[in-house]
Amino acid sequence: MKINMRKCDICGTCVAVCPVDAIYVSEYEVTIDNDKCISCLNCLIVCPAQAITEEE
Ligand code: SF4
Ligand code: SF4
Repeated sequence: MKINMRKCDICGTCVAVCPVDAIYVSEYEVTIDNDKCISCLNCLIVCPAQAITEEE
């Protein structure tokens, strides 16, 4: 999964729905650990800014 930081407003919604805690939020950016990600697509579905895509 990939986050477009130009779209992301760091709302934290995706972090809360990840079942494997693969998403990390800081003051300036949100990152996804693709080694942990199980591609459930929860984060992509809930993101209000459509900032998350399935590409690596
Ligand atoms: S696709 Fe699922 S497992 Fe992967 S980062 Fe998003 S919520 Fe977490
Ligand atoms: S849900 Fe979308 S806008 Fe919110 S922190 Fe995650 S990627 Fe950014």
